[in-house]
Amino acid sequence: MEAYLKCDICGKELSVKEPWNLCPQCGGLLEVNYEWGHFHPEKVRKSTRKGIWKYRECFPEIREENIVTLGEGGTPLVKSVHLSRKLGVEHIYFKNDTLMPTGSFKDRGFSLAVSYAKEIGVKRGITYSSGNAGASFAAYAARGGLPSVILVEYIANSAKVSAIRLYGGNVAILHYRKFGEIEKMLEESVQKLGAYQFVNFINPIRHEAMKTYAYEIYEELGKAPDAMFHPVGTGGGLWGAYKGFRELARFGKVSRLPRMFCVQPDATAHFREAVRNRSGQASAYGDCRNTIAQSIASDSPLKKGERILSAVYETDGDALGVTDEEIVDAMRELAKEGIGAEPSSAAAVAGLIQAVKSGKLRSDETAVCIVTGSALKQPGVLERMAGQDPPKLYADVNSLRILLEQLKL
Ligand SMILES: *Cc1c(COP(=O)(O)O)cnc(C)c1O
Ligand SMILES: [Zn+2]
Repeated sequence: MEAYLKCDICGKELSVKEPWNLCPQCGGLLEVNYEWGHFHPEKVRKSTRKGIWKYRECFPEIREENIVTLGEGGTPLVKSVHLSRKLGVEHIYFKNDTLMPTGSFKDRGFSLAVSYAKEIGVKRGITYSSGNAGASFAAYAARGGLPSVILVEYIANSAKVSAIRLYGGNVAILHYRKFGEIEKMLEESVQKLGAYQFVNFINPIRHEAMKTYAYEIYEELGKAPDAMFHPVGTGGGLWGAYKGFRELARFGKVSRLPRMFCVQPDATAHFREAVRNRSGQASAYGDCRNTIAQSIASDSPLKKGERILSAVYETDGDALGVTDEEIVDAMRELAKEGIGAEPSSAAAVAGLIQAVKSGKLRSDETAVCIVTGSALKQPGVLERMAGQDPPKLYADVNSLRILLEQLKL
């Protein structure tokens, strides 16, 4: 199946075999399009591959020898047992992407993007990250033999930065003076430095792989959910899933798209502000230092967030902002279900709770929260949440008996 790149703004078409980031004509974002002509979804159903590579037929073509995989994708869709009862919504699911090779859903995108880079002969790559994308890129680049440069936001925690270095990524800590400077630097460096970038959306390939969680959810439920709750930083995850469901609609598998809920920290909720104004464009808002949700703390949207807003409007979804307090409560709710999530992932669940309370999600509907990153990504938050040290115990049976009595067990 033929794939090509097409500019969002001027419509220019470009070869998918060349390392394009932004449109050379107008600087717009590029999207992979396909000539679906002879494509048959049966091909996917018959695939014996696991994870995201089961859907290889729905990606740009990559030869076997260039595939860089660590077993990403194919994660469990866990049905809620406690939160669903508490909220009176029976069908709540958690797509548990904390179980990825580097602990976040970024691995879907980097497995595909690094494989693609090998396929087209890219020799080095740059990305920008609050931590998780950097670790994922560093791991896949290491495995694929691609030198990597990773610009990390200065708010990234040391556990995340150390993980990137463990995989051998070249890290630099990025400082900026004004909002929008990072976006400007990244966009300008496409033209001026020519280094291939792996930043969400500036790289047109990463979010192609995020389609796979739409496919996986569809296969497991046998239908599209009514609503999906995404924690949104750049929105590559939400956009990829939206694209995946649009493809499923094209194949005649689903008759309507899930309502896409974009969840951000209250502190940087530029999409919520845009939706409140019914605007098709978002602008800089808030300050990314004012939330614990580091992986989704983005105070200025890339290219005015037009893709994300169009997905929200077209599916009759919404954009929500959640406070750190709501996020911590949602982390505890997820923990009761047996899922340890970092604050940014729990934001999706906080968004769902808000949507139930405000009547935006009805009790008979099916909802999926994308749980994007492991609790171990932000150990500092876990320590603060745990509070007092646990009791100390001598290693004898009497002390243990006393403990059990105290616990009334
Ligand atoms: C990157 C990330 C997000 C946000 O993903 P986008 O595609 O940038 O919207 C959410 N949660 C976690 C844990 C992440 O690492
Ligand atoms: Zn263009």
